[in-house]
Amino acid sequence: MPWQDTTDPYRIWLSEIMLQQTQVSTVMGYYERFLERFPTVQALAEAEQDDVMPYWAGLGYYARARNLHRCAQIIRDHWQGEFPKNAADIMTLPGIGRSTAAAIAAFAYGQRSPIMDGNVKRVFTRYFGIVGDPGKRAVEQVLWKTAEDVLDAAPTGLNMKAYTQGLMDLGSTICTRGRPACDACPLASGCWARVHGRQLDLPTPKVRKKPDQRRCTMLILESAGSVLLHQRPSSGIWGGLLSLPQFESRQLLEQTCASWGLSLNPGQKMAGLTHAFSHFTLHIEPWWVLHNGAMLGEPGADHIWLPVDELRDAAVPAPVRKLLDGIYPDDLLVNDERADTY
Ligand code: SF4
Repeated sequence: MPWQDTTDPYRIWLSEIMLQQTQVSTVMGYYERFLERFPTVQALAEAEQDDVMPYWAGLGYYARARNLHRCAQIIRDHWQGEFPKNAADIMTLPGIGRSTAAAIAAFAYGQRSPIMDGNVKRVFTRYFGIVGDPGKRAVEQVLWKTAEDVLDAAPTGLNMKAYTQGLMDLGSTICTRGRPACDACPLASGCWARVHGRQLDLPTPKVRKKPDQRRCTMLILESAGSVLLHQRPSSGIWGGLLSLPQFESRQLLEQTCASWGLSLNPGQKMAGLTHAFSHFTLHIEPWWVLHNGAMLGEPGADHIWLPVDELRDAAVPAPVRKLLDGIYPDDLLVNDERADTY
């Protein structure tokens, strides 16, 4: 992986944040593009947040990008532009937890601090037979204490980079969730779960609540070759991204359209879309309205009209990208004569 060939804490930090909740194959392209545009922590600190979001659009969990940007500014303003040199200081930065801080410190500076990400939790619960939901504080404390004890017992010259990477790789490639390859595992002989045939019982699953089901309508309003987009507030879901105007109900959509002098008809309703967030599922009912002529009211200042041929570069969340790509595929964006044909 490109982030494994470096000791630059900025690059390591970026990869660690991108890899949270996101697969390696997805991260690769984003990582390269991000570094091309923001090659140093200084370059990131100097950028506007609006410049950063397009490089994260589609990766999800957008608070990560906002925190990344804030961190870069804190490093510029309070750390003389130098990344902090130990896990305890790194942890004080926004959006960096104990495990991520330890991983950065191990990879960049060889510091001896234990990590405990999701993959490593799986290895530890199985190897040491630690029962109970690792998301619960008491179980998590046992895991951290165990990880500290293991490091305390390790030889003085332990290669922290290799040890940390090895643990992460073991969890992601061998001690996998559904099919641990115990026959290929270097820890097999001492593993509690393998000896007791309990690999698939650990880690103890959390008792899951059914995710909330939420509904909304979205308006794709096209007029004179441009589409109306809404600038989301910087905090909250999809914070800082552009999105489509969104309404809690069809009634609110109809009321807003009426106030703009637009009437809806059933033919404008498109196929629905479902998007899963970590704690709820959003059911989106999209409406596509083509409008010619002046509108009665003006959308608020947090709305912009974006020309259709600029949509592909807009920083929009994944389900909105899917909707827009369905309506405005690339070939139409390139040879766009649509505005004239309506
Ligand atoms: S022996 Fe199996 S369960 Fe134990 S750590 Fe290795 S892969 Fe995981």
